Amino acid sequence: MSTFNAFWLSKDDEGSQSLTWRESNTEELMDGDVTVAVSHSTINYKDGLALTGSSPVVRRWPMIPGIDFAGTVTTSSDPSFAVGQQVILNGWGVGETHLGGYSQLARVPGGWLVALPPTFTSAQSMAVGTAGYTAMLCVMALEDRGVRPGDGAILVTGASGGVGSVAVSLLSSLGYEVIASTGRVEETDYLTHLGASSVINRSELSEPGRPLGKERWIGAVDSVGSHTLANVLAGTRYGGTVAACGLAQGMDLPGSVAPFILRGVTLAGIDSVMAPAAVRKAAWARLAKDLDLKKLDSVTNTQHISQAPQLASEILAGKVRGRVVLNIES
Ligand code: NDP
Repeated sequence: MSTFNAFWLSKDDEGSQSLTWRESNTEELMDGDVTVAVSHSTINYKDGLALTGSSPVVRRWPMIPGIDFAGTVTTSSDPSFAVGQQVILNGWGVGETHLGGYSQLARVPGGWLVALPPTFTSAQSMAVGTAGYTAMLCVMALEDRGVRPGDGAILVTGASGGVGSVAVSLLSSLGYEVIASTGRVEETDYLTHLGASSVINRSELSEPGRPLGKERWIGAVDSVGSHTLANVLAGTRYGGTVAACGLAQGMDLPGSVAPFILRGVTLAGIDSVMAPAAVRKAAWARLAKDLDLKKLDSVTNTQHISQAPQLASEILAGKVRGRVVLNIES
């Protein structure tokens, strides 16, 4: 196809953003050796920031937003990818500095793509998306630092969100006892169904706290940051590890070094965007092996791409539960 439709995000001279779904030409796409007919994308927290302009995620104008996509290769000069092959893309600056996934067509360097594991449909791979792949990176970071099921409970913050829901599901399937922290205690049944052993109110963690508290968990997956992360560290048991990936409460970290120097706690930073190809392939292989697809389907809500602007505001307001797949084909 030489023409296709895509969402374009533009900024005027006053700095106001606008989003238009319009017919586009392949000549507008950026360089890359693989072109993909995109069937599905998703909405992550970062997509919400980009679409609303709440944070300077987009650094090239105009931009096709969408940090994730899945689809079928239509042209390829990369020997690793054949025409007709199904692929996934997460991050690498797509939707930020390189034209993104809210489009019927995308062109990227082949080295950015991951072959779709046969376990997943394209739609399921976007139900995982950057949020789920990041949850897997967090679990792998805990494992790499020696945290094992049976060592103690693992806390998941922002548990009803995308990273949180997949983290709860994965950790529970792997045999960990999971404590889910949420501001939506009405979602207790949802979190218990995903495998949480107990649910705590996030207000326990969101206010300024003490440098060290009672030792409650051996590890944590934190997508919230700020006071929550400081309190998560203060409640981590001797020798434990906290995987920090997010900033839903804030980008600050108002804590002390006490958990590190008095309890040997490790703070493991997680970045999904520029993670090397080998790391992301390993994460997707683990997702294919360890993620319960019935649970994934139960946390997934499928919407048409036209709903992306509305969903962007909802995800920033903490109103999106689990994961949203955006259907681009029809
Ligand atoms: P979601 O919006 O789906 O989930 C975030 C969750 O955080 C919400 O559902 C809510 O959970 C909780 N939350 C929201 N606001 C607050 C607040 N003010 N205080 C405390 N908790 C809050 O987003 P994602 O799961 O897609 O992303 C989560 C975070 O991880 C984001 O900050 C995102 O930017 C980051 N991220 C980072 C990546 C990386 O590579 N490092 C990759 C992917 C995501 P509940 O209602 O259960 O309390």
